Amino acid sequence: MKQWMKNVRTVEPYTPGEQPKESGVIKLNTNENPYGPAPGVRKVQENIDDLRLYPDPTAGALVEAIAAYHKLNANQVFVGVGSDDVLAMAFMTFFNSDKPILFPDITYSFYDVWADLFRIPYEQPALDENFRIRKEDYYKENGGVIFPNPNAPTGVYENLDFVEDIVKHNSDVVVIVDEAYIDFGGVSALELTKKYDNLLIVRTFSKSRSMAGLRIGYAMGNPELIQAMNDVKYSFNSYTMNRPSLLLGVESLKDEEYFQETVGKIIQTRTWFGEEMKKLGFTFPDSKANFIFATHNQVPAKDIFEAAKKEKIYVRFFDKSRINNHLRITIGTDEEMKKLLAFLKEYLSKVS
Ligand code: PMP
Repeated sequence: MKQWMKNVRTVEPYTPGEQPKESGVIKLNTNENPYGPAPGVRKVQENIDDLRLYPDPTAGALVEAIAAYHKLNANQVFVGVGSDDVLAMAFMTFFNSDKPILFPDITYSFYDVWADLFRIPYEQPALDENFRIRKEDYYKENGGVIFPNPNAPTGVYENLDFVEDIVKHNSDVVVIVDEAYIDFGGVSALELTKKYDNLLIVRTFSKSRSMAGLRIGYAMGNPELIQAMNDVKYSFNSYTMNRPSLLLGVESLKDEEYFQETVGKIIQTRTWFGEEMKKLGFTFPDSKANFIFATHNQVPAKDIFEAAKKEKIYVRFFDKSRINNHLRITIGTDEEMKKLLAFLKEYLSKVS
């Protein structure tokens, strides 16, 4: 081993879903939204100028637009390069205890990567057999708590009382609720931030606003939490948000009608698609996200995943214990889901 290697920070990286290069693909593997951003966003996009200039380091216009949208003050909002960036900053800022942070064993698979990267000790209490978080597991002493609501990749949502119970039992540490998928049928815990100064809510423009390519995420919480995150951000990279993202993010927030309409379509598609999946022998927990997490009563998930891929239909398979017989299927358009169902019908009739 070379001497310098001893000082290298080694970490097992997060594996993002595949971004296939081939054309004609039905892409249901990374929870993207099929409808695209609001029409106003596309218009502004055509006229983006001044790329020679640095962007506003405070991301002021976007911070203010997000604050106004949620009826908050600007000092209660932090923005970053997708919620991944916001979450990474939050881990760095808030999880600095010798005690382990807590998050579920089945959850967003970036959490343990950040914990490893930043040398944060962690424990992962097991979800119950219905993929529900056991809130009592979060009553013990810890260095911080994070969980997504709805959870990923399960889609399982817990109500406000449940979230409040966990926050209430953890008033000595920061509790982060990752609401990447909250717009698809859940109720946000944002109102709890008025009561609990240790609660941070994290959101993204990637899913419900169909802007994954622009990388816009944000956190909301009391001004002290936001200030602490900004201090870390400015110690790292002052220009996290690029000019186009700032402009287009603001524009997206102006079109509530388009937002509600497209989110509504995804919820509708999720409902009928779910019914059809049940007829084919799949089961899955009730989902409040833009995906379902399904297992078939006879055919292994991995076989279905591979066969679908051969037909250019991409869904997500996680080769991890407890979930390696499940598929996470993003809700696309009705058309896309019909094609997936047609494939499944034919494939399952051949193999089962
Ligand atoms: N949180 C959860 C639970 C997610 O599933 C994702 C999507 N990979 C993210 C955060 C990050 O999304 P983004 O960085 O696009 O905002």
